[in-house]
Amino acid sequence: MISIPYQLVMQIPILSRRGGSKCCQRCGGWHTVRTRRTVSGCRVETQRCSALGSPARSSPVSAGSEHGERFSRKVFVGGLPPDIDEDEITSSFRRFGPLVVDWPHKAESKSYFPPKGYAFLLFQDESSVAALMEACITDDDKLYLCVSSPTIRDKPVQIRPWRLADADFVLDASMPLDPRKTVFVGGVPRPLKAVELAMIMDRLYGGVCYAGIDTDPELKYPKGAGRVAFSNQQSYIAAISARFVKPYVLDDQMCDECAGARCGSKFAPFFCANVTCLQYYCEHCWATIHSRPGREFHKPLVKEGADRPRAVPFRWC
Ligand SMILES: [Zn+2]
Ligand SMILES: [Zn+2]
Repeated sequence: MISIPYQLVMQIPILSRRGGSKCCQRCGGWHTVRTRRTVSGCRVETQRCSALGSPARSSPVSAGSEHGERFSRKVFVGGLPPDIDEDEITSSFRRFGPLVVDWPHKAESKSYFPPKGYAFLLFQDESSVAALMEACITDDDKLYLCVSSPTIRDKPVQIRPWRLADADFVLDASMPLDPRKTVFVGGVPRPLKAVELAMIMDRLYGGVCYAGIDTDPELKYPKGAGRVAFSNQQSYIAAISARFVKPYVLDDQMCDECAGARCGSKFAPFFCANVTCLQYYCEHCWATIHSRPGREFHKPLVKEGADRPRAVPFRWC
């Protein structure tokens, strides 16, 4: 087996060719590199707390800013010239530090150009983001940098860094965060900050005490979903009746019916989001409760991998 020197490993993503093999199969990012760094003991990244619980102990400003990091290493760049290709984007930003250029479905499409005129810059170091921002011009609170393509000279493109502190916002610190009054919100537009999500949900349902934007643990960049905790049951129930909102399903709750007596004290696998239930159930209690008239059609929710609750077809045994 050939061992690859660490320095070279750091270079591989930069040298990767158009449409060629990538460092990370999922996003073409720095996952492999970062993992090696972690293994080599250079740096251990701590994942942002699952958000429930963590904001109560830390202020919104300090949340997510371990190691003094302030920005995600992933930066959105929009309004690119239509004929700028990956190599040209890379060289336009290379002066700020080593980076990889990525865009949604880049590997599958095998396109040389970002199809929608935007891309993500995945910098190796967070300090590159600060350097990039410093070089930008500001207009109406937006950041721009001039980029050239073969046919267009010095086109201002928008640079949108993600501030780590924008991932959490505590609206009412006097209220304890109750996971059972927390909802999962899907389809959150990427640049939306936690404070904005909190305000929107508070306007719609009232009683918001916390909002968090879900970020990926590696680059700490928004994933397009969030969580909102309410201070009262009425707001929570009003929220989960909306189509884009789901109850936040926990995997460490005891059955609310039997408190573990009928299931060997295992954590309850099912949550019923119907307002007449709103409870966690073990398999036994789910079957018992939902054999009652009017409850046969309730759908059990289970916790799915990335915090996303999922309806499962329940099988009667
Ligand atoms: Zn039970
Ligand atoms: Zn039910």
